[in-house]
Amino acid sequence: MDLFWHRRDLRVADNLGLATAAERGPIASVFVFDTDVLAHASDVRVRRLLDGLEALRDAYRDRGSDLLLAHGDPASILPALAEGLDADRVVWNRDYSGLARERDARVRRALAEAGVERDAHHDAVLHTPDSIRTNAGDPYSVYSYYWKKWRDREVDDPVPAPDDADLLDDNRLSDDLREAGLLGPNDDRDGDGNDEGDDDRDGDGNDEGDDVRVAVGELPPMEVLGFGEPDVELQPAGTHAARERLDAFLSEAVFSYVDDRDYPIREGTSRLSAAFKYGEIGPREVYAETERAREAATDRPEPKAEASVEEFQAQLAWREFYTQVLFHNPEVVTENYKTYEEPIDWRDDPEEIEAWKRGETGYPIVDAGMRQLLAEGYMHNRVRMIVASFLTKDLLADWRHGYAHFRDRLADHDTANDNGGWQWAASTGTDAQPYFRIFNPMTQGERYDPDAEYITTYVPELRGVEPDLIHEWPDLLAVQRANAAPEYPDPIVDHAERRERALAMYKRARGED
Ligand code: FAD
Repeated sequence: MDLFWHRRDLRVADNLGLATAAERGPIASVFVFDTDVLAHASDVRVRRLLDGLEALRDAYRDRGSDLLLAHGDPASILPALAEGLDADRVVWNRDYSGLARERDARVRRALAEAGVERDAHHDAVLHTPDSIRTNAGDPYSVYSYYWKKWRDREVDDPVPAPDDADLLDDNRLSDDLREAGLLGPNDDRDGDGNDEGDDDRDGDGNDEGDDVRVAVGELPPMEVLGFGEPDVELQPAGTHAARERLDAFLSEAVFSYVDDRDYPIREGTSRLSAAFKYGEIGPREVYAETERAREAATDRPEPKAEASVEEFQAQLAWREFYTQVLFHNPEVVTENYKTYEEPIDWRDDPEEIEAWKRGETGYPIVDAGMRQLLAEGYMHNRVRMIVASFLTKDLLADWRHGYAHFRDRLADHDTANDNGGWQWAASTGTDAQPYFRIFNPMTQGERYDPDAEYITTYVPELRGVEPDLIHEWPDLLAVQRANAAPEYPDPIVDHAERRERALAMYKRARGED
């Protein structure tokens, strides 16, 4: 029997590791609330994770099985569980981030010591981080070259979900766990991720492995995991919801993606990022569907229909590009990818950073984006670029402040993409925005939200104000602002002045002053 360990692949279909385990059948599947991972999590992300797990659990239940849930250190839980269930092997899909790889190495060692086999699969991306390299054999740091190779490579077909008969039925799971003394509430009793000081439950004279308790399908409340319920309206989670979104997107919006994707008020993008983050939909399945849309594009009335489908595929390639950047450079999570001659002399004013986080900078498009983030755990891509530019080049604040806030608030936070996005905006990343190209937040708002519909959706103080005035807000006289929208803040900085300071800051870092 195989034990399948779900991590960032909360789905049963198009799941390579699970499909491979099913070929050997039968399978029991487990998710572990990893104490180390939870230490870096946030209310929003844990909420989103639990929603995804509920959908996954229900998918197993629909098949007559269930999802096992444990809380603690996977390196102690998995060997104990494999032993308790009499599993020969633990199977999982690879996670390419540095922390996950360290954790997996520990788990691998613990399983080896326990005499349990391991089997890890490449599943999360179409092309593994090692598979696309320059002709000299180096990883790519320029996206356009990477994309050309990515686009031309063969892609595997989606893999089917396991047959129901290959999944252990729910009664047997409970019986086997009970017999092994592992069945119990998902409480990790002392919550320290190890069993030190825990009771000798199995009476073998030591407490090793004794804190391992596994629940069958019973999801822990947020508080038990150490988190509070966030005040945020998240989209429905799970494979079913993701497929519905994908179908809706690929039957209409994808054909005008090129024209619509930069306009935050239009429903011009797929909104699949959280589903990708938690692996609720498989990359092969998504790609196969986009290929079908590409065929359909030839009969569509939209003038750029085929180019639009390809542009969407190019975003899937950005995801894989940043995955390989992180894989080859795990240090980018905290360090600049690009080294300047001198350290960048960030200004880091705490009050300005806080105003940015609250969406109270007096720059309407920036504030709308930051408030969308707080309300929905999501922000449109164009607006992410605008707010990230504003933090780094208008507030002259270190991108790490922005990254940390996004990490806490985004339901789709993905280390590779979030870091890639921030380092792009800060001109410190691979293939980043050149330091001298600084977004003007007023022009950006005017261009991408001309009628200020997106802005007024999230900034109610500006409802009823003429769009022209909204786009000029920071340049209006104080009295004009006070008359038009007395509740909305004055600009906290002067863009033209900050632009000059930003240029000087980067030139100093480049050793040019
Ligand atoms: P679509 O336009 O429908 O794109 C489809 C998918 O392609 C996305 O779901 C995503 O998986 C991928 N994708 C799209 N754009 C990018 C991109 N620029 N880089 C990498 N992958 C991309 N994306 C995240 O998934 N998680 C993050 O934490 C994240 N943080 C970001 C931070 C900053 C500062 C910036 C500028 C961008 C960030 N992005 C992040 C990328 C992008 O903004 C989101 O992927 C996108 O807005 C999600 O909406 P969507 O699913 O409708 O995108």
